[in-house]
Amino acid sequence: MNKVTRADVLVVGGGPAGIGAAIAAARTGADTLLLERYGFFGGVGAYGCGMPINQMRPAGIPRGAVHELLIDRLLAYGEEAVRISDHALVCNVEYLKVAVMDALDQVECRYWLHSRVVDARVTQECISGVVLATKTGFVEIAAGIVIDATGDADIAAYAGAETMKGREPDGFLSPTTLNMIITNIDVPAAREFQRHGGLKRLLDEARERYPLLPESMGLERAPFPIQNALVLNHSGTKLRGVLDGTRVEDLTEAERYSRHQAIQIVQALREFGGQAFAKVQLAATGPQVGVRETRRVKGLYTLTEDDALSGRRFGDTIAWRSGMLDIGFTRYEPMKVHDVPYGALIPEKMDGLLTAGRCISATHVAASAGKSMGNCVATGHAAGLAAALAVAQGCMPRDLDVRTLQARLRADNVDLTWSPPPTYNAR
Ligand SMILES: Cc1cc2nc3c(=O)[nH]c(=O)nc-3n(C[C@H](O)[C@H](O)[C@H](O)COP(=O)(O)OP(=O)(O)OC[C@H]3O[C@@H](n4cnc5c(N)ncnc54)[C@H](O)[C@@H]3O)c2cc1C
Repeated sequence: MNKVTRADVLVVGGGPAGIGAAIAAARTGADTLLLERYGFFGGVGAYGCGMPINQMRPAGIPRGAVHELLIDRLLAYGEEAVRISDHALVCNVEYLKVAVMDALDQVECRYWLHSRVVDARVTQECISGVVLATKTGFVEIAAGIVIDATGDADIAAYAGAETMKGREPDGFLSPTTLNMIITNIDVPAAREFQRHGGLKRLLDEARERYPLLPESMGLERAPFPIQNALVLNHSGTKLRGVLDGTRVEDLTEAERYSRHQAIQIVQALREFGGQAFAKVQLAATGPQVGVRETRRVKGLYTLTEDDALSGRRFGDTIAWRSGMLDIGFTRYEPMKVHDVPYGALIPEKMDGLLTAGRCISATHVAASAGKSMGNCVATGHAAGLAAALAVAQGCMPRDLDVRTLQARLRADNVDLTWSPPPTYNAR
């Protein structure tokens, strides 16, 4: 082992959940280290090329100090960096990557990029640290509390904590998608084309020539901060069949399929998309396919479809989730604002570990109800505060008095009883 270091609160994964957790913990003064495998932060928010970061300000109302700090750092770069549209942020991701580092610097959070966690250290069912693979070799980091914000529950899986994957009981997983930025388009004409069903017709007409075209696709509706460009989201590998984002063979196939697919989409748009797309060019894709769903931690409480659809509230709530129930191009419908109880962040058996974001304890359907990035920042916020409190009190997260955590969240301007005004349109 090359090097051994330590952090009181160790957050793994620099996506929306990990960023929320790291900022929240560092704001309390806790010694916090955020680890990210790539050379930038933002998770899918960054490598999704500029997908709207949904539920950051539902109904236009600030959610809390952590969400607002991120928004402030983005706004500091002006309209070129971000536009706020209804509840969502639409970013130029190059600014997002910098704004996240600005926010982390502001709260004096330590962070390491190019740090992929490959193993966990466990003693008597308590996680005590992780092992990174870095360019200098393996590095061991001891930790007070570890927060698994990897999206894939990597840390929980490496530690041997119980995890769940995909739909119960058949293991179905939502498709992966390589989002793309297309440019040199007539944006108003492209929006009209989409509004009149042009994209759907195009997929039917062009499929024979371009067999990798996705089942469906859509241009993001919100105003995009890059001139003459738009983000294209689509059903990705859905027609290819289920691919598992925790298996290297499946990830390789997802990349092979999706990168050929991106080129076919652009060719089809140019040939079948009329004047709006006559000169369209492929400007960018992310460093990897976007993975919607893999492993989730089995927690003390597992959120269910009924919790989301009935708008269930819990006495031990530490966050709420708003927006749509959205199983990537498989099922999309309204849900109610519902709570996340603290138990959904705590692994059933493993100590020293909390989860946040996409891999909290939820069924396949319930996971899809919390995936909007603003909701992931919110569970990250709670996990970060819980970890800092547990370190300060010398206890395990499961032994923390949830009322203390709720009071700290309220002090960070989180309204745990929030429900939307009747006029709120979650989409
Ligand atoms: C194609 C697609 C489109 C989407 N569209 C939208 C949308 O329009 N709006 C919206 O709000 N949400 C959207 N979502 C959902 C949303 O992006 C995710 O639910 C959300 O990003 C999850 O946040 P997270 O922080 O839990 O995980 P992630 O965003 O996946 O972040 C996890 C981070 O951990 C890092 N990491 C993973 N493993 C390791 C490791 N072993 N060591 C170190 N680092 C690691 C990753 O590099 C990543 O930065 C979309 C998702 C996909 C895939």
